[in-house]
Amino acid sequence: MAQHCTFCKIINKEIPATVVYEDDLVLAFNDIKPAAPFHVLVIPKVHHDSIADVPADDSIVSVLTNRASHIAGQLGLANDGYRLVVNHGDNGGQTVYHLHLHLLGGRFMTWPPG
Ligand code: AMP
Ligand code: ZN
Repeated sequence: MAQHCTFCKIINKEIPATVVYEDDLVLAFNDIKPAAPFHVLVIPKVHHDSIADVPADDSIVSVLTNRASHIAGQLGLANDGYRLVVNHGDNGGQTVYHLHLHLLGGRFMTWPPG
C-alpha cells in the first residue's frame, strides 16, 4: 500500500470504482476516462510504481496478462480482438504510478499509437 496512490485507495475501497474482476492477486475495474468502448485497468493488489519496478523473479506481470485475457473473454472481446498496453514513465504516457495493464476493446485499434 502506497499512502497517496489512487489505485491502492481503489483496492482498499476508499475510492469507488466499477470492478469487473477480483481475486487474491488482482483487481480490474473500468477506466474513468475510457479510450475505447471497453477500457479496463488490470492492477496487482501489491503496489509497484511501474513495470520497471517489478522484481525479476516476480510472476505478477504474467498473472496480469492471464487475467486480462480471461476478462477479455468474459467481455466477449476474444473473437474481434483487443489490445493490452502498459505505459511506463513520461514518454510512455504513464500518469498513475501503480502498475496497471490497459485492456482496450470494442473498436479497431490503429497502429502506431499516438
Ligand atoms: P496511465 O496513463 O497509463 O498511467 O493510465 C492511468 C489510467 O488511469 C488513465 O487511463 C486514467 O483515466 C485512469 N484513472 C485515473 N484515475 C482513475 C480512477 N479513479 N478510476 C478509474 N480510472 C482512473
Ligand atoms: Zn498503489
